[in-house]
Amino acid sequence: DVTHFGYQTVRAEEKAGKVAEVFHSVAAKYDIMNDLMSFGIHRLWKRFTVEMSGVRPGQQVLDIAGGTGDLARAFHREVGPTGRVVLADINSSMLAVGRDKLLDSGVAGQIEFVQANAECLPFAPGSFDLITIAFGLRNVTDKDAALRSMYQSLKPGGRLLVLEFSKPVLEPLSKIYDTYSFTLLPLMGKLVANDSESYRYLAESIRMHPDQETLKGMMERAGFERCDYHNLTGGIVALHRGFKL
Ligand code: SAM
Repeated sequence: DVTHFGYQTVRAEEKAGKVAEVFHSVAAKYDIMNDLMSFGIHRLWKRFTVEMSGVRPGQQVLDIAGGTGDLARAFHREVGPTGRVVLADINSSMLAVGRDKLLDSGVAGQIEFVQANAECLPFAPGSFDLITIAFGLRNVTDKDAALRSMYQSLKPGGRLLVLEFSKPVLEPLSKIYDTYSFTLLPLMGKLVANDSESYRYLAESIRMHPDQETLKGMMERAGFERCDYHNLTGGIVALHRGFKL
């Protein structure tokens, strides 16, 4: 079985190791790079995700590929002391940085940290009211398996939100964005994190990721119903939503 790691064709069993290298390498600089590369706009994309989640006090939330914990912290505020927030990620370095950050925010004790692969989530079926995956799905080798596993882990009536880079809807925006991604991004990666390779992977993996309609179809095939999406920043990012009814 072959798959892609950015623009490289690799054997499916090689991909997770390569993705792991990227996130071990970027973990320490992850938050600052996010702010720099997106001009802080990732905060707005995440805020919109929380708004669209419809989450209420007392609910159970899983943020898979949660990394350094931006969404987990926001959801913790929404669900309150009677709710539950689980931050799961496959990468120990990202989890460690996330845990430190949430400790500093004083909420780490109220959030569960789990090292897990999105393809085979270690939770009982029907555990969560809401599952989110932000900028994570494109790194997952078997995306269909991951979507099925998320479907299983949701309660009936629960929803999945997938926040991910997508396809810009306007041609001129697309051109500027391409230039930015393949020249400035790796350069910033080199200057700030001394790692241009990881940021080239970032640009390439975004180009290889399924577009809005394709991802919606994948969610439907995994069992999700009433699937829709919102383009953000001209489709540079899209927020997909689907329900387990
Ligand atoms: N969600 C965070 C955010 O929005 O800032 C972090 C996103 S970061 C770009 C992608 C994360 O996906 C990394 O922390 C990485 O370790 C994680 N990841 C990659 N493959 C994964 C998998 N198969 N299962 C779970 N997490 C995975």
